[in-house]
Amino acid sequence: MAKRECGSCTLCCKVMSVPEIGKTENAWCTHCLPSGGCKIYQDRPGECRTFNCGWLMDESLGEDWYPKKAKIVLTMQSGHIVARVDPATPAAWRKSPYFEGLNRIMQKNLPKGMLVYVAISDHFTLLLPDRQAELGVLQANDDVQVEPVSGPNGREYKVTVVKG
Ligand code: SF4
Ligand code: SF4
Repeated sequence: MAKRECGSCTLCCKVMSVPEIGKTENAWCTHCLPSGGCKIYQDRPGECRTFNCGWLMDESLGEDWYPKKAKIVLTMQSGHIVARVDPATPAAWRKSPYFEGLNRIMQKNLPKGMLVYVAISDHFTLLLPDRQAELGVLQANDDVQVEPVSGPNGREYKVTVVKG
């Protein structure tokens, strides 16, 4: 149960899809009020009721990570972390403190097999210790495999995308 509250943030109502009401990713939900909040709050879909972004759940993320400020919604997808960036501000994740923060999250979770992606619309970038790998458009059933290999500069990461 999240201890934090959304306040006037509604960014997930833009960047996330809500299949139950046919809402696609990266478009404002038609039920979203310009002042913040949901017109159908009492009857909102189950997906909206149960969704909690990373900032709501993880109090170690400071106020800089409030999605309305960061323009980034941290989510979990198939056991991996996806930082969904507001497509209106696609460079938000490359700015400080977000770039450093996302790389810290990546360094912490990679040994556990949990990958960190940045998603801008349907374009995915995979964060790795040696680079940011541009993966292009990923579909939900695509499989991304990451293998550490030895390279001329030490440990490198081989990335393979297996299309589903
Ligand atoms: S992005 Fe997070 S803080 Fe913002 S409205 Fe959604 S759940 Fe609440
Ligand atoms: S139904 Fe309400 S809570 Fe759900 S995405 Fe739309 S505005 Fe947000």
